[in-house]
Amino acid sequence: MTQSPSAAAPKPSRVAREPEPPASEMAGAHSPIIQVQELRKSYRTARGSLELFDNLNLEVPVGELVAIVGPSGAGKSTLLHILGALDAPSSGTVYCASTNVASLSAREAAAFRNRQIGYVWQFHYLLPEFTAQENVAMPLLARGMRKTEAMHAADRWLKEVGLEDRNDHRPGELSGGEQQRVALARALVSSPRLLLADEPTGDLDSTTAGRVFELIERLHLNHGLTSILVTHNMDLAMRCRRILKLESGTMTDITDFASKSLQS
Ligand code: ADP
Repeated sequence: MTQSPSAAAPKPSRVAREPEPPASEMAGAHSPIIQVQELRKSYRTARGSLELFDNLNLEVPVGELVAIVGPSGAGKSTLLHILGALDAPSSGTVYCASTNVASLSAREAAAFRNRQIGYVWQFHYLLPEFTAQENVAMPLLARGMRKTEAMHAADRWLKEVGLEDRNDHRPGELSGGEQQRVALARALVSSPRLLLADEPTGDLDSTTAGRVFELIERLHLNHGLTSILVTHNMDLAMRCRRILKLESGTMTDITDFASKSLQS
């Protein structure tokens, strides 16, 4: 069981956390953008049923930057997939950006993802035969935007992630950090409301990971996103406004606990 959003406590000064959202966003903070109730997820495997969560509840208010931590295999990626309409719950209700994601057909789910969700994974999954600019333009082309317009938007986004001089580079001609920046630009080019990031810095060295995380923080704030990051990196998780731990099918808010551990 997660605690209510109001449980996000004032942050100690020693912890470099995300600043409070602007007042305009605080006003909307009462209406959660994610509402998960009594979520159950199990997989059928050769050894029988694998129960990941039985009664998982989660609310995330608009504008929050949330880290989800927990041991490998706890179901963190599965939860992100369910929130992003990439996987279906076994039962329970999952409202995400005013949409009951469990009720969507495959076609509706694809449209929902294209409009509402920016997804970033540990590996960039850029298409190797296309340039950075073409990769970023893909989601807009998929929704039917004209190529010149989509490429123009991609150019703007590459500037925003600091890669204005890499438009024509193919993924193989970019560093790991640059590839992840392009992946972030591609995730956000459609102006989604939610950023779901699954170990976005997991494949990077610590300096590059820190820089990519800083970029995520900046994009989160500048674009009024609600962002959920799955990470093993507690240093980065500590910079989020709220830290949730998923373990043994249970979600616990460990924001205060993590802050106190850092201080002692
Ligand atoms: P985490 O992200 O916390 O490491 P995952 O969500 O990736 O965990 O996986 C949780 C568990 O569910 C793992 O034990 C994994 O093997 C299992 N799992 C994930 N997807 C499937 C699937 N499609 N079929 C069966 N088991 C799965």
